[in-house]
Amino acid sequence: MGIQTLIQTSINSIKILDNQNFELISTEQTFTADRVIITSGGTPKLSGLKWIEDLGHKVVEPLPSLYTFNMPGNPVCELMGIVNENTTVKIEGTKLIADGPLLVTHWGMSGPAVLKLSAWGARILAEKQYKFNALVNWLHTQKDFQAQEKLEQFAGENPEKLVSTYNPFGLSKRLWLFLVNKSEIHEETRWKNLGRKNQNRLVNTLVNDCYPVNGKTTFKEEFVTAGGVDLSDVDFNTMQSKVVQGLFFAGEILDIDGITGGFNFQAAWTTGWIAGKNSGNNL
Ligand SMILES: Cc1cc2nc3c(=O)[nH]c(=O)nc-3n(C[C@H](O)[C@H](O)[C@H](O)COP(=O)(O)OP(=O)(O)OC[C@H]3O[C@@H](n4cnc5c(N)ncnc54)[C@H](O)[C@@H]3O)c2cc1C
Repeated sequence: MGIQTLIQTSINSIKILDNQNFELISTEQTFTADRVIITSGGTPKLSGLKWIEDLGHKVVEPLPSLYTFNMPGNPVCELMGIVNENTTVKIEGTKLIADGPLLVTHWGMSGPAVLKLSAWGARILAEKQYKFNALVNWLHTQKDFQAQEKLEQFAGENPEKLVSTYNPFGLSKRLWLFLVNKSEIHEETRWKNLGRKNQNRLVNTLVNDCYPVNGKTTFKEEFVTAGGVDLSDVDFNTMQSKVVQGLFFAGEILDIDGITGGFNFQAAWTTGWIAGKNSGNNL
């Protein structure tokens, strides 16, 4: 009731007037309002948040989140299209770790395990200028001694079979052959002739496989911004600014970013609902 919707109208500036009202200047006209909810979404540059700072708020530098890892020239890219369902990926020298399906692409690695790392590590990986080592455990959570035991048991049960074509872990044939080659095991080697050194190299490749990452690529065209309005400046019960009465925030303009799976939409909807409900109340 009494709501006017203006489309194709850009707000170019917001001023706080003396009597706690706001003046909004758009491309078309100037409005005054006693409540404003800002839901202008994410921005990739700090300069895009200057107007928020000018209103007295702290902002956290915006950075991209949800991207895939580039591994230029790495032979693993020949496996493009392969998905290893249960994989753990760590970032060397950090505490960052994530698990889930891993997809090999023609430029590197993607899939939920990688996307989660890009979200949780958005700031750390940006500081590293997207150059770091990804350590892949193709056997999910299995430790080296568990892999070792399984290999020994399998070798005992299948002595005449070729290492390069039979594996006890249910890994895809192409991935397994790649890992065997990477471990410098001859394709004609039989399980009974594997030997301790080969076995150790194979175990290391299976549970601690190192891939240098150099750069990132946007996942599909999805782009989520980590950073935005500092959460300490916002009352989460109402989504009202703690700095400016009558001003509310919702959605990706806030320093909230989620992993894939609808969490960013949910954050936008939930904060939008709270802001909408509370902006109608007496302050
Ligand atoms: C391709 C793509 C796929 C995505 N897929 C998913 C997904 O599957 N799941 C998920 O959870 N998240 C996904 N996201 C993220 C999700 O879309 C956002 O987190 C969410 O839309 C944020 O909502 P928002 O309303 O805060 O901002 P936005 O949806 O970005 O809306 C902001 C609006 O404000 C307008 N605006 C900005 N500045 C001004 C101004 N000065 N004056 C007037 N209007 C202005 C913009 O034009 C825009 O319409 C995806 C993002 C992209 C780009």
